[in-house]
Amino acid sequence: MANFYTDNQDLQFHIKKRIDWKTLVELAEDGFTQPDGHQNLEEAKAFFDDVLNLVGEFIAEEIAPKAAKIDAQDPYLENGEVVHPPEFLEIFEAIKGLEIHGLGVPRELGGMNAPHVLTMAIAEIFARADVSMMTHHSFHYGIAMAMLVYSMSEGSTVFENSAIKSTRFEKEIREILSGNAWGAMDITEPDAGSDMAALRCLAEVDEDGKWWITGQKIFITSGHAKYHIVIAKSEGVDSGLEGLSTFMVKAYDDHEDGTRTRYAVIDRLEEKLGHHASPTCSISFERAPAELIGKRGEGFLQMLLLMNNARIGVGFEGVAICEAATRLAKEYAAERRAFGKTIDKHEMIADYLEEMETTTRALRSLGYEASFHEEMSFRLKIQAMKNPQMPAEERKKNERRMKFHKASARKITPLFKYLSAECAVAFAQRCVQIHGGAGYTREYGAEKLLRDAMVMPIYEGTSQIQSLMAMKDTIGAIIKAPQEFVRKLAQARWRSVSAKDPMVKRVAKIEVFSLMAQQQIVQKTAADKFKTIKDKPLSQWLEPFKTEWDPKRDFGFAMLHAERLTRILCDEAIAQILLEEAQEFPERAPLLDAWLNHAEPRCRYMLDLISTREL
Ligand SMILES: Cc1cc2nc3c(=O)[nH]c(=O)nc-3n(C[C@H](O)[C@H](O)[C@H](O)COP(=O)(O)OP(=O)(O)OC[C@H]3O[C@@H](n4cnc5c(N)ncnc54)[C@H](O)[C@@H]3O)c2cc1C
Repeated sequence: MANFYTDNQDLQFHIKKRIDWKTLVELAEDGFTQPDGHQNLEEAKAFFDDVLNLVGEFIAEEIAPKAAKIDAQDPYLENGEVVHPPEFLEIFEAIKGLEIHGLGVPRELGGMNAPHVLTMAIAEIFARADVSMMTHHSFHYGIAMAMLVYSMSEGSTVFENSAIKSTRFEKEIREILSGNAWGAMDITEPDAGSDMAALRCLAEVDEDGKWWITGQKIFITSGHAKYHIVIAKSEGVDSGLEGLSTFMVKAYDDHEDGTRTRYAVIDRLEEKLGHHASPTCSISFERAPAELIGKRGEGFLQMLLLMNNARIGVGFEGVAICEAATRLAKEYAAERRAFGKTIDKHEMIADYLEEMETTTRALRSLGYEASFHEEMSFRLKIQAMKNPQMPAEERKKNERRMKFHKASARKITPLFKYLSAECAVAFAQRCVQIHGGAGYTREYGAEKLLRDAMVMPIYEGTSQIQSLMAMKDTIGAIIKAPQEFVRKLAQARWRSVSAKDPMVKRVAKIEVFSLMAQQQIVQKTAADKFKTIKDKPLSQWLEPFKTEWDPKRDFGFAMLHAERLTRILCDEAIAQILLEEAQEFPERAPLLDAWLNHAEPRCRYMLDLISTREL
């Protein structure tokens, strides 16, 4: 029997050895005190392994063989409703039986309370078979969790004895878990994508306090959903990010006589390059009844609450494409002969395959690191909510831990989303190339991987937006604490020449490249800033450096090089994570060595570009 979990040793390394389940599961299971929960760590780990075995086999046997057929039959609109091909519907009927839509949802709401990290492993396995069907599945679990997170953050979830007693969207969450409904996240509009301040969809409140949404949303994944989380302007169209609020809009009601009343209209389905099983809808709201979530004006902040998880999810889609592309390319190259030998024996092809395999494994390590920190920060937050009587000392410790994990997730997530998406496209293209002419046909599925991959650097924040975020956080931290930066650079330099362990030395070298690139950007930014103040009296020089930073005016050079800096930051973060792995599990040392062989010259090249290319 084919199984996408048991055939993947690298994934099993993370599940069986690397992930710190003890810390995570103890939090998720309230120290194993819940009567209907796992009673100890071993029991929980055995459950995770069973789930992955079961799902790995189901996906490899039932979904992967149907992916090409489903890809060839786009869903279509009939009488304003989306119609899927029968194979797609059969798969989602079978998923209902497996109950995986609710895997990570708390037991009190009908789920299995599994760690979100586990759901990311399932996302990867699922996306390896077909990324667009995985996406539709994720708009069940993801939106159910979004509803819970929003309810917790606005204070409408009540806990009793550490368990959820009631929560605002319980009915909707249970309906989604049953597989009879799903959700959508409606942000993008015809004139506003990356630039959320430009959104124009309007939310108006009447005298009775009822909200109504009017406007158009486009590119909405699984937009034939019943439940839409809509970000709209509640304070007028020109109110910027501060004027955004979040709403729940029920798109339709079904009646007993089989008829349906629609409050949100599906205008059309996009005809896309790839992602064919996933309907991408354009939606119109014409005074659709809506419920405000949280407070007015909190829309952007609420979007940030979910952002990391969604981006990590897309990152794992990218890992899945990399994994599938590498396997397909290796299989073909081992069979195809040219000039008297199989093409995997030709130096260039062997080099491509090695880089694809090394990078896919490195990305997976980065992804689990991001996912672990994101979940830890979420679980610690819930722990504090569940235990209002927590002693002050414990609460302080909890907050410190939460801050650490939150900062780590914030740092790693854009790197993972960026690199995983970019590599998915690059490796899918390599896979086509390795197949030669056959890659350009539909026969082997290489072209499907490329078509499916190409959306990854676009949705959930484009690659350019990820780079800008990573750059702003990195440079902002240096401006806030320049002495700390100088100390870090000196220490990394020292380690890069004096460390006894050659691997530590090599990783320190990457850190030095990264810090030098950051220094280059900060120095140039400061020099540009100096030009704007040099004609002022000396006594007025300090203030602009301390407080008056305008992102548009002062960071031109940094923005020019944001993607190059991000590439170095990715290499650095991965090198550090793989070093940690190699120190604990010596069998990982060859992976670190292989990664550094690629990362060292790449960082040198990126640093060179940053040092020489002017605005
Ligand atoms: C298949 C698919 C599914 C989607 N699903 C959803 C969904 O479920 N919900 C939803 O709300 N949206 C969804 N989207 C929309 C997606 O999130 C947006 O397309 C994305 O955010 C980019 O916005 P845009 O298309 O308006 O491009 P723009 O924002 O116009 O950007 C165009 C280009 O300019 C670049 N750019 C923009 N600003 C800068 C800058 N400051 N510096 C450098 N470069 C910049 C971008 O990186 C991009 O390359 C989906 C899109 C697709 C294709």
